[in-house]
Formats: sequence, C-alpha cells, structure tokens
Amino acid sequence: MKLIIASNNRHKTEEIKAILGSRFECVMTLREAGIEHETVEDGKTFLENAEKKAREIAKISGCASIADDSGLCVDALGGAPGIYSARFCGRHGDDAGNNALLIEKLRGEENRRAHYTAAAVIAYPDGYTVSAEGYMYGKIIHAPRGNGGFGYDPLFVPDGETRTLAEMSPEEKNRISHRGAALRTLLKKLSAGEEM
Ligand code: IMP
Repeated sequence: MKLIIASNNRHKTEEIKAILGSRFECVMTLREAGIEHETVEDGKTFLENAEKKAREIAKISGCASIADDSGLCVDALGGAPGIYSARFCGRHGDDAGNNALLIEKLRGEENRRAHYTAAAVIAYPDGYTVSAEGYMYGKIIHAPRGNGGFGYDPLFVPDGETRTLAEMSPEEKNRISHRGAALRTLLKKLSAGEEM
C-alpha cells in the first residue's frame, strides 16, 4: 500500500521515510503525490490536528496517509507555545521570530524545563486510524547554538546532553526525538497487526 505524508517539511518527511519506509510499498510527500492541500489546524490538541490532516489527505488521495503535529511545551509558560509553536510570534513558520520571542519570555526565568511533543496518525481511506505520541524532555538555553535542525532546535538541550539539537546530526536527533519516538510506537502498532 502507498503512504502519503501529509507534509512538505523536509525534516519531517525524511524522518518519516527513514522509520516507516520499509512498511509500505512507496512513501511520498504531498508534493511528490501532486496534491496541493492546506489543512486548517483548529484542533485543541496535537492528536486532533494530526488526525484531521491525515484523514483529509487519505480521503483526497484514496491512499493511506500519515500526519504529524508537534510542538514545544515550556513549563514556565504553562505549556505554551504548544499547538501554536509554528506561529508563536504571530507569523507562521518564522523560526527566528519564534526563537526571539521565546528568549524574551524566559528572560530572568530560572525554570528552563520544556519538552517537545509529537502526535503521529496514519489514516486509511475507510476512515480507520492508528495513532501514537512521543516526547523529548530537556531545557531551554539563553541564546541559540548550532545550525542544524529547525524550529526551536538551537535553543533546546535534551536531558543527558550538553549540545543543542541544532548541534547534532539528523541521525543523532532522530534517535532521541519526540517524532522518532511517536513513529517507532506507530511502527510497533502496525507490526502488531493493528492495520496494514
Ligand atoms: P507543525 O508543523 O504544525 O507540527 O508545527 C510544528 C512546529 O513546532 C514547528 O514549526 C516548530 O516551531 C516546532 N517543532 C516541532 N518539532 C520540532 C523539532 O523537532 N524541532 C524544532 N522545532 C519543532
């Protein structure tokens, strides 16, 4: 069966292909499948948003579809930016603006604890879904470091590490990332025969 990734984000699509590639006959991004579609992310949780994206693409394409919804939850900010991570500063996808606002909001704050959450959902054209969540815990530093990754990676140091995610190779990040954890749980559920 074909699997269409409900995203064109290179970082996400590479990670999804690396982990789920062998389970499907072919894994394609929206662009590769020739689908232009923007889901309105109006869910109240990561899981609701991921499920909505996956269901819409499964319906449009007639193939299985996988979607991920993810974000950063900062303890001292009551879990913000959370599901609004991509547009924290008011402009969707403005990583530099989002990071600058995060530094500003945590200025003088001693509690730097934070975690990433990822919800991953596979939806089938008949409406059946399989879902999983993954987390990565760590802390927010005071100034960005590193050129890798994306989003808040230059400000996030995972537990047990001294480097930010932006200072790690993609392989190192995938091994410990929230998205990697969610995708591996999803793969286990598929392998256990929940659906194929
Ligand atoms: P989504 O595309 O709606 O899932 O939004 C995800 C947003 O959360 C991104 O734009 C980033 O700001 C943030 N985010 C999620 N996962 C990561 C990650 O692995 N590294 C850095 N930022 C992330």
